[in-house]
Amino acid sequence: MSLKLFNTLTRQKDEFKPIVAGKVGYYSCGLTVYNYAHIGNLRTYIFTDTLRRVLEYNGYEVNHIMNITDVGHLASDEDEGEDKIDMEAQKTKKTPYEIAEFYTQAFFKDMEELNIQKPTLMCKATEHISDMIALIEKLVNKGYAYVTKNAVYYDTSKFKDYGKLARLNLDGQNSGARVEVDSEKKNPFDFALWKINQPNHIMQWDSPWGRGFPGWHIECSAMSMKYLGETFDIHSGGIDHIPVHHTNEIAQSEGATGKKFVNYWVHANFLQIKDTKMSKSLANFYTLRDLKNMGFEPMVFKMFVLMAKYRAELSFTDEALTAAKTALEYVYNFVTQISEEYIKGKEDWIKVYEEKFLEAVNDDLNTPQAVAVVLEIIQEAYKRKQFRIYDTLLDFDKVLGIRIKEKRESLKEELPDEIKTLITERENARKSKDWAKSDALRKQIESSGYILEDTPEGMRCKKKE
Ligand code: AMP
Ligand code: ZN
Repeated sequence: MSLKLFNTLTRQKDEFKPIVAGKVGYYSCGLTVYNYAHIGNLRTYIFTDTLRRVLEYNGYEVNHIMNITDVGHLASDEDEGEDKIDMEAQKTKKTPYEIAEFYTQAFFKDMEELNIQKPTLMCKATEHISDMIALIEKLVNKGYAYVTKNAVYYDTSKFKDYGKLARLNLDGQNSGARVEVDSEKKNPFDFALWKINQPNHIMQWDSPWGRGFPGWHIECSAMSMKYLGETFDIHSGGIDHIPVHHTNEIAQSEGATGKKFVNYWVHANFLQIKDTKMSKSLANFYTLRDLKNMGFEPMVFKMFVLMAKYRAELSFTDEALTAAKTALEYVYNFVTQISEEYIKGKEDWIKVYEEKFLEAVNDDLNTPQAVAVVLEIIQEAYKRKQFRIYDTLLDFDKVLGIRIKEKRESLKEELPDEIKTLITERENARKSKDWAKSDALRKQIESSGYILEDTPEGMRCKKKE
């Protein structure tokens, strides 16, 4: 069954065909590390990781690159205002490197808590300055860039297809997309590749145009092409990247190489709060830690994200999170209650659900449908009293990443060894129909502070409350 992805370039679901059979080059725009990630950012990174998981589920070997923006991202994406990290450094009297390192580690922790896999490589902008300079030199030499007093600018009028990704209307200056602030710009859409003569900016590097620092967009062109080649398969990000950041990446890369940059552009929609985009600048955001304080564990948030299509706006509400919590508990209850005998093997009725699951995830990552399949299987198992579905659930969890195995094993680990031995002895006694011994062992277990429940899914043991 083929995988279909909604491609922003074509505005339709395209069948995914890799450049090299069996392999995928995949780049995702990473976090600007000047503050904690908010859960809107994290929605995007859950999507980014789910896409990689779906590719791997389909048997592809994925080379997944994600950048860490630690310089150059200005307060507004339209290349205006101050550098976000520089600003935070000045405010807190720390170095930009300290700020970046602190929030990078915090981001890694969030990823780990959400079971977001580390990309194959995470690369920092500040460690790729020479790659960016080399790319800018190419653009200058080819006539795609010009130098002014303040910056090296990309000349958007020179790039024939400028704005094709976003289908920007470039006619006239009142297209509303961006405001011209620097009178040195030849065209309102021109953007900085390298800033110079900015004495207040802390991080500065030498360049052929003078000491300065890179614009935000050039880092992604330079790093993606360095690690994945001049043309690669998939590039992802949030929808806010379409009109500016990704539009500019295409102009830079295709201007420099004369080749198509990316085959599939895939974008996730926003997490909204009260009909507004959650964002740091609006101060209407929550972090993962805030959610925990509200009683929602990271896996509940992940389930909440998976229960919506990535291309749909998602509203952050208490009710929706509670619904996700209920669904997650339903899955967790099942996998922690089934007895050992159901852990291996498969019921013969499972195949149709396996097909439905693959069909869902391959249909442009229809994760709400995939979650529905998981819930349906568990329901069916209860109905039929046939519980050999754990293996299948683990297989689905390769895509969903909701830690099914860890959940079961963490509960098992809470039992001390002597209780585990008593349980095994009791199971053996029951198998040989030695009911007197089995009863005696049950009493022994109970007098040690544990209770045994014979449930329809088999025996369950837990600590007395
Ligand atoms: P930034 O650190 O600003 O570069 O943002 C990191 C990622 O989070 C980008 O891919 C953005 O598109 C994404 N993002 C920002 N706000 C939201 C939001 N409210 N919902 C979903 N994704 C978001
Ligand atoms: Zn980027």
